[in-house]
Amino acid sequence: MRQKIVAGNWKMNKDLERGLELVSEVVNMVKDEVTSSVTVVLCPPFVHLTSVNKLIAGQSNIKLGAQNCHQKASGAYTGEVSAEMLKSVGTEYVILGHSERREYFQESNEQLAEKVNISLANGLLPIFCCGESLDLRQNGDFVGFVTNQLTESLFHLSAEDFGKIVIAYEPIWAIGTGLTATAQQAQDMHAAIRKHLAGKYGQAVADATPILYGGSAKPSNAVELFSCPDVDGGLIGGASLASRDFTDVVKAI
Ligand code: PGA
Repeated sequence: MRQKIVAGNWKMNKDLERGLELVSEVVNMVKDEVTSSVTVVLCPPFVHLTSVNKLIAGQSNIKLGAQNCHQKASGAYTGEVSAEMLKSVGTEYVILGHSERREYFQESNEQLAEKVNISLANGLLPIFCCGESLDLRQNGDFVGFVTNQLTESLFHLSAEDFGKIVIAYEPIWAIGTGLTATAQQAQDMHAAIRKHLAGKYGQAVADATPILYGGSAKPSNAVELFSCPDVDGGLIGGASLASRDFTDVVKAI
């Protein structure tokens, strides 16, 4: 059985007080629900990581995640945060290659390969994002585009290291737009991704890799999305900012 994961990507939202309020509510709401069958990952902004970690201490199925890290180990990179620093404050997961990072910070597949490497070297588990634009979805080889993102950033890994990767398929046209991929569109892409992984690492590794869906996932569509055989959970943006919505998505698993 593949690990089921629901990760909340707060993006650049919530000051400390509001962030901790949200975490306390989520902890209270999911503590009885969360079983070993689902891992909840909270990905607040960097500055809140330490405080959030204190609040989730003792909740074995609620983990701490970051939204990015720098590709270098340390040095003169003003304003950046390293994988080692993240690990040192209790972070276990790191979102890499989110489409907003790719678009606004020009993160390339090659640079993301470096981020994957430094994350793994520091014991962080990457939640690696991939996904196509609306233009590609309508006019291009969108499956080829997405599988190429995975090839260029991940396929240098050994099978053992690849076993630590979580993939998040996030069609860009569905992020924050209210437009969700249909369950069929999500399932088709997740199956294509899994087939691509099997071609490189074999079926057993592909079958063990969690592939999350992201893009306007919310309580009203989560049950349908999560019932797809190749959808193993979600990377949740907007709906992770309200405790009730987020926990309803968790319960949809
Ligand atoms: P959304 O964001 O749920 O607000 O669409 C998802 C994401 O960007 O990870």
